[in-house]
Amino acid sequence: MADLDKSRQAVLARIAGALRAAGRPDGDCALLAVSKTFPADAVRACHAAGQRAFGENYVQELVDKAAALRDLDVEWHFIGPLQSNKTRPVAETAHWVHSIERLKIAERLSAQRPDALPPLDVCVQVNVSGEASKSGCAPGDAIALAHAVAALPRLRLRGLMCIPEPTEDTARLAGQFAELRRLRDALRADGLALDTLSMGMSADLETAIAEGATLVRVGTALFGSRA
Ligand SMILES: *Cc1c(COP(=O)(O)O)cnc(C)c1O
Repeated sequence: MADLDKSRQAVLARIAGALRAAGRPDGDCALLAVSKTFPADAVRACHAAGQRAFGENYVQELVDKAAALRDLDVEWHFIGPLQSNKTRPVAETAHWVHSIERLKIAERLSAQRPDALPPLDVCVQVNVSGEASKSGCAPGDAIALAHAVAALPRLRLRGLMCIPEPTEDTARLAGQFAELRRLRDALRADGLALDTLSMGMSADLETAIAEGATLVRVGTALFGSRA
């Protein structure tokens, strides 16, 4: 297993450097450790190194790891595509869902969120690259979807999430991150109290932070490459 203490410190240093370069305050961007495909023991080691927030893409993996790590105070974020027949275990297990792209999914999560738990924190995912293959709602639908999600009783809309086009063209990436920020700003102007821009991964977190990311989702740079 990778030395998770060392790799986490290196990622935290990248985040701190990017915040400084952007003239943003220390601590203004959180690290979500994306543990998909890695075993519960890897999460345990990363937790021992001080990490609390972990992201998972697959429902069964989320459920299995949450059960195996019940003794730890992990904050679980679901960040993968979510089908309507799989919402219940996510509503019962996750603290956050970043990948809301349709109202129907949000309505089910709200209805299925157990009363004993606090409201589920969510982000609306926006397809800022416009690629047909990509998850997320169309940018033109984001405002209406966000308002509808914010009105659901057992969800708390925290912000927006995106996965940009995989490109090394930094200006192009920056433009896609900036589009998400503009949508967030428009929703704030409408009166929604949003504090989260979930954008940036191992390869592009500096660009995302320069454009306002408040949470970066990092897998490879922490845990190594996935099989
Ligand atoms: C896998 C994944 C990540 C992490 O990507 P890395 O390049 O490994 O850092 C972030 N966000 C989402 C939605 C993912 O599916």
